[in-house]
Amino acid sequence: MILNIDLGGNSAKCALIENFEIKSKFFVETPKFEIIENLKKMIDIYFKENGYKWENVEAISFSVPGAYDKKTEIIVFAGNLNWWNYPLLKEARRIFNFEKIFILNDANAATYGEWKKGQDGMPESMMLFTLGTGVGHGLILNKQIWEGTKKGYASEGGHGGCFADEELLCSCGVYGCLEARSSATGIERELNKADNKNYIESKLGKEFKTIKIIDIVELFNNEDPVIINIFKECLMPLSKAVGYLQTVLDVDKVIIGGGPSNLGKRISEIIFENLKKYTLKSFYEDMVIEIAKLGNDAGIWGAYYWALENI
Ligand SMILES: [Zn+2]
Repeated sequence: MILNIDLGGNSAKCALIENFEIKSKFFVETPKFEIIENLKKMIDIYFKENGYKWENVEAISFSVPGAYDKKTEIIVFAGNLNWWNYPLLKEARRIFNFEKIFILNDANAATYGEWKKGQDGMPESMMLFTLGTGVGHGLILNKQIWEGTKKGYASEGGHGGCFADEELLCSCGVYGCLEARSSATGIERELNKADNKNYIESKLGKEFKTIKIIDIVELFNNEDPVIINIFKECLMPLSKAVGYLQTVLDVDKVIIGGGPSNLGKRISEIIFENLKKYTLKSFYEDMVIEIAKLGNDAGIWGAYYWALENI
């Protein structure tokens, strides 16, 4: 049995998986401090209440929303957890009193999960973007997760480059990252701009404090031109990056996950239409852009497979 922990800013999703089957899934709130101490305490309580035993746990596998430097075994940064140069592996081993602990960046975990479990036949190569508070990115090359060779925490495709407006400052401290525009946060920021908000409120006949993507699903599904245009514009920086990366990497598939991907195939179509202008014709013609299949459990499954193969 492997204990998989998908750490998030507000809560950690925990799943006990045995023989490719989820035995149990539970959530633990993430406090602002002593996150791992609290996790251990809450998991102990859960184990006790539900009859699970630590001696049956073969490994613990973490999916972390931040950059993990495998060489130094340190989380370089995880903004949502307020971790800067945090020695997660060492601390988790000490607090859990457990040796076999594995760590993956959350986007890499989602990519690995989607590749191992979501994609029939596991393509030779693929990249995944998850649109949420930020934009996560993971890459499979030659049937392996690509972590880079110099820093060891590569595929941060949501950041760097200048695919978005150059004056837009991203939470990572760099200008022009696509995350600032193409994340769910970026899309919702656009939906709440005065003109757009007034339009949506008049269309739906009610007022909103803040408009969320979930509020405009019907308008989106009915091809409302204003809403579709907001998505086209917000997804443009991501589309440019996908087009560019495809030209560089020539992967078998591009997968889009995260909250906005629940809107379905139309999201991948918008990205496909957007990037036509920016991609070499021969690469564009047979590009495959799909919506992720595993949804919110991709990270848990990625953590599981990662541990299973590295035990
Ligand atoms: Zn950034």
